[in-house]
Amino acid sequence: MSDRRRAFVTGGGRGIGRCIVQMLARDGYDVCIFDQEDFSGSSDFVRQIESLDRQCCQVVGDVRDARAVGDALESVAGRWDGLDVIVNNAGIVRDQVSWKMTDDMWQDVIDVNLTGVFNVCRATIPYLRQSGGGAIVNMASINGMRGKFGQANYAAAKAGVIGLTKTLAKEVARFNITVNAVAPGFIETDIVKTMSEDAKRDAVGEILLGRIGTVEDVGESVVFLCSDRARFITGEVLRVDGGQYI
Ligand code: NAP
Repeated sequence: MSDRRRAFVTGGGRGIGRCIVQMLARDGYDVCIFDQEDFSGSSDFVRQIESLDRQCCQVVGDVRDARAVGDALESVAGRWDGLDVIVNNAGIVRDQVSWKMTDDMWQDVIDVNLTGVFNVCRATIPYLRQSGGGAIVNMASINGMRGKFGQANYAAAKAGVIGLTKTLAKEVARFNITVNAVAPGFIETDIVKTMSEDAKRDAVGEILLGRIGTVEDVGESVVFLCSDRARFITGEVLRVDGGQYI
């Protein structure tokens, strides 16, 4: 791997992804954000990263679009002469009990949360190989490990991400590429604002450490798995859930 560290983060515009971008920049990475919403022109966020003397760029696109993903990676890897770290963070929820879940609700979540991760991983491996190795971190969820009422689509997609992560780890270890997943529990983001107080209380009641997780709690684990400190870890699923799963 080169001394310069270059990262590509999907869904880096808000929530957990935004925190990951800030932490990677803090740790010395140049970061490209792949996100649906265009905020690059006016964003304090981008200026904040650049004030750390790191480069920050945004490519507007949809992880479901394999061609857009391929073009974005080609352009940023070309500009930066390679890539070292990929974080597949983009994700959506469309919750409903299975018997009321529409085809679109099912398919949208599978397409973004699972096919989107595959699209990025597949397109990215040649660039990581060119760089002599690297790290891929995929965002799973504890609900992909335990199931969740009303989340058949989401739990299936996140379980798929775990299977994909382990398979890729086996396939690309020979290229000095690690592939791991982070499985958050209940984390304070926009999603939480839409929940009722009862639902929040029930969720917190499951968490051994007695609080909702923060985006920083997840970000620290992601940047660890991206770093050389985690160089002998691959095919792992790291739960960041305050003990909620157990
Ligand atoms: P969030 O605040 O809703 O942010 C999701 C990000 O993904 C946004 O930047 C969004 O872009 C982007 N995105 C969505 N669809 C996309 C697409 N098709 N192509 C490109 N980008 C897309 O979500 P979050 O809570 O931070 O969650 C981040 C990840 O952690 C997700 O994979 C989620 O499943 C996982 N996770 C979250 C929790 C939690 O409690 N929050 C728990 C477990 C796992 P726009 O702004 O343009 O929509």
